[in-house]
Amino acid sequence: MNTKVISAKKDDGLWRVETKDQTTGKREVFLSKVLINAGGPWVSDIIHNVLRVNAPEKVRLVRGSHIVVPKIWDHGKCYFFQGNDGRVIFAIPYETDFTLIGTTDFDHIELDEKPQCSELEKNYLINFANQYFYTELKAEDIVWTYSGVRPLQDTSEGNATAVTRDYSIKVNWEYEVPLINIFGGKITTYRKLSDAWR
Ligand SMILES: Cc1cc2nc3c(=O)[nH]c(=O)nc-3n(C[C@H](O)[C@H](O)[C@H](O)COP(=O)(O)OP(=O)(O)OC[C@H]3O[C@@H](n4cnc5c(N)ncnc54)[C@H](O)[C@@H]3O)c2cc1C
Repeated sequence: MNTKVISAKKDDGLWRVETKDQTTGKREVFLSKVLINAGGPWVSDIIHNVLRVNAPEKVRLVRGSHIVVPKIWDHGKCYFFQGNDGRVIFAIPYETDFTLIGTTDFDHIELDEKPQCSELEKNYLINFANQYFYTELKAEDIVWTYSGVRPLQDTSEGNATAVTRDYSIKVNWEYEVPLINIFGGKITTYRKLSDAWR
């Protein structure tokens, strides 16, 4: 993030939002009639540590990891597989010489911790793919991994896979000027999400 919101307070019927440029350190103040918190994985952190307000909703951080292995097939098509656990994974051609396999659903506890593919996740993806491909993959075949964190609505589900991928928009009028917190959501549903608030 280049420009960080470092504080936001209600001020005479408006939100007074203070930002800091992370490169130059320059601070600026913006006044706004509405504040929308679309902080993704940081949505709860912003509520509690930047806005310093209360909100009952929580975010559940669920890590998704991918592995890259030398290419398993020669054509340009993709595969989707369902495993014994009911989850679906994909295997797709990656660059010219590789296959990308993903993804996982693992709770990511520490927001500040860089998401990385754990050994458990590597083995999970390798074993999953090995149920389907003739080429037997081993952990040593993995040339690269990458991971991301899904900012899901915390619905107190036990299993990370079962947590809803839907979004919720919570409008908080408590502070005279509206505060809108967005929980969950996907890139594919962002237009629908925006429409909901028109
Ligand atoms: C492994 C994985 C697979 C996924 N697969 C799919 C898929 O197949 N299809 C799909 O549609 N979606 C998918 N998603 C979900 C999608 O990537 C996310 O839901 C989406 O990126 C969320 O967008 P966002 O804008 O809410 O959050 P983000 O993209 O995370 O943006 C939040 C922004 O807030 C900024 N921010 C945080 N704190 C502050 C602050 N104090 N001041 C200013 N800015 C701040 C951050 O820097 C960041 O830029 C996947 C996610 C993962 C992790």
